[in-house]
Amino acid sequence: MESTASAASGSTPRTRVAVIGGGYAGTMAANRLTQRPDVDVTLVNPRNEFVERVRLHQLVGGTHDAVRDFAAVLSPRVRLVVDTAARIDAQQRAVELASGSTIAYDYLVYAVGSAAASPLIPGAAEFAHPVSILEQAQRLRAIVATTPPRAPITVVGAGPLGIEVASELAEQGRAVTLLCGGTLGPYLHPRGRRSVAAGLARLGVTVLEGPASRVAEVTRDAVRLADGHDLASAVSVWATGFAASALALRSGLSVDSAGRLLTDETLTSIDDGRIVATGDAASPSGMPLRMSCQAALPLGSHAADTVLQRIAGQTPQDFTRGIAAMCVSLGRRDGVFQFARSDDTAIWLHVSGRAGALLKEAACTSPIDQLAKEARRPGSHAWIVRDRRRTARIASRGSVGLVPAHKGG
Ligand SMILES: Cc1cc2nc3c(=O)[nH]c(=O)nc-3n(C[C@H](O)[C@H](O)[C@H](O)COP(=O)(O)OP(=O)(O)OC[C@H]3O[C@@H](n4cnc5c(N)ncnc54)[C@H](O)[C@@H]3O)c2cc1C
Repeated sequence: MESTASAASGSTPRTRVAVIGGGYAGTMAANRLTQRPDVDVTLVNPRNEFVERVRLHQLVGGTHDAVRDFAAVLSPRVRLVVDTAARIDAQQRAVELASGSTIAYDYLVYAVGSAAASPLIPGAAEFAHPVSILEQAQRLRAIVATTPPRAPITVVGAGPLGIEVASELAEQGRAVTLLCGGTLGPYLHPRGRRSVAAGLARLGVTVLEGPASRVAEVTRDAVRLADGHDLASAVSVWATGFAASALALRSGLSVDSAGRLLTDETLTSIDDGRIVATGDAASPSGMPLRMSCQAALPLGSHAADTVLQRIAGQTPQDFTRGIAAMCVSLGRRDGVFQFARSDDTAIWLHVSGRAGALLKEAACTSPIDQLAKEARRPGSHAWIVRDRRRTARIASRGSVGLVPAHKGG
């Protein structure tokens, strides 16, 4: 076993692991790390509740509050610190918190997730409402609640987030226009896309596709399209995708072009062997998995395994797991479960209608069950989908995992 910090003089040496971010990946990692009785795990998170991000569109629609008590998903062995990491001092092995205090670590798990991508379109930052984190969804819910029932609502962005928010609002009787800026649900197979389009039509959502549906400007009460056409919009929702936190960059760590922490295939930072990244915030070999809850859970358990293997003096394993589906809810009674290859490309097979909605609901409930189980029985989480093509792609491109020694290891 490699050298560890000693918490109390005269006692068995203990290893301090700090986890930044208590989302799906960070909570999974924190729970799994408790397998070793000589590891002290501290989880830093800005809220004292676990956010079910996959239900934020439901929060907007008023059918779920999207939070859970941490006691339901987090091991009692993990110390929860309600604060925000302001900077990582990799040299000193310390996390500086917004409150002014500091957490020293032997290993760090970087699990800060993602947030709404910053809109570059004029007026969007000022007048359009993002919906990627809890407080944004709560704010949007409050705004919708005070908006007249038939006032026009525009959702910009037709990936799963935009589709789900538009559907949820339409199901509440709102007059919703979904601006695709291109193709509806670009990820989907054409068959799955047809099912989504049919579901949106049943809910009364107006879908505008193609280049003319690109947004050129957002104002207080309208959205201007690329062709100069103005759409009246009492509430404009910005749902164009997720972006990484600036924390890694701010801390002088190597990041990919999107700001995710750059790691090798074991999820270890290419700068520092003591730092392991996971979930939406990780970019293994600069070829990250799709930002998703589906990827966050296996990435979370793998990050913990990497740390535990390093503590035990073993060589960490490469992450080889893939994701094999995307599920999109269309309100509470309809949904599309789009199957995919293990390299995350959609195939013809999908389940729609009520069965699709039930599968999506299972996809929201299952992560909570998996976290609760890992809290009770650390080390029990398993994931069966393997992405063998990833290994081939990385081998052909040259993995950043082949970068020489880690500075901090
Ligand atoms: C409406 C919606 C629906 C979605 N539906 C699906 C779906 O059906 N299927 C799917 O697979 N994915 C879905 N996603 C995506 C999924 O929610 C994310 O990919 C997933 O939450 C990523 O998990 P994570 O643990 O990496 O990050 P997060 O869940 O975002 O957790 C990160 C945590 O880190 C905290 N944090 C951030 N910065 C700091 C800091 N500086 N200091 C301390 N803590 C910090 C955050 O507050 C948060 O608690 C959906 C997302 C949204 C918004």
